[in-house]
Amino acid sequence: MTGIGYDVHQFAEDRPLVLGGVTIPHSHGLAGHSDADVLCHAIADAVLGALGQPDIGHFFPPGDPACLGISSLKILEKCRELADVVAMEHGNIHRSSELGAAALVRLLERCDALRKPQRFANLLAAMQCSAMADAGAAPAVYPQRQRLLVALAAAQAIAADTIAKDAMARGLQGPAIGELLQQPRVVAVATALGWQAAPG
Ligand SMILES: [Zn+2]
Repeated sequence: MTGIGYDVHQFAEDRPLVLGGVTIPHSHGLAGHSDADVLCHAIADAVLGALGQPDIGHFFPPGDPACLGISSLKILEKCRELADVVAMEHGNIHRSSELGAAALVRLLERCDALRKPQRFANLLAAMQCSAMADAGAAPAVYPQRQRLLVALAAAQAIAADTIAKDAMARGLQGPAIGELLQQPRVVAVATALGWQAAPG
């Protein structure tokens, strides 16, 4: 994997100059929505490019109130999380046609796909590109992408809020609630993929 990143910000008065997370005393800083750390932005762009993802503006749109004034080290942190998911799971995603419903749900959970469905969809698009590149002139079929999107939609469709509220009312907490959600998700995924039972 190779990634190339670059970034440009204008100098501005009354702004801090932050490079690589370090504030440098200077008469001028850089204009921007976040802390305008041009070095972090270029690195983030390179990491996202290497992962086959949209650029930094897609994930951290200029004007997004959540990004106002944030340290760009946080942006790098998010990119690293995504790189970790790709490094750990890309083989499992490629082989996901061999997985049963329970294993698919665990894969979705490890990718944090239920909380970040758009990120997961982007990831699958990139996985398809890499599979097509590996296949060379072979036909561009990658059924894993559609199958995982169907599984994700099914897992998302269960009434997680209701189950979680009931569980909290019974005094259960984080991990126990997660376990409680897993079984209905497995059943929903199995049903969506046309399986009678829920193979592991
Ligand atoms: Zn920037």
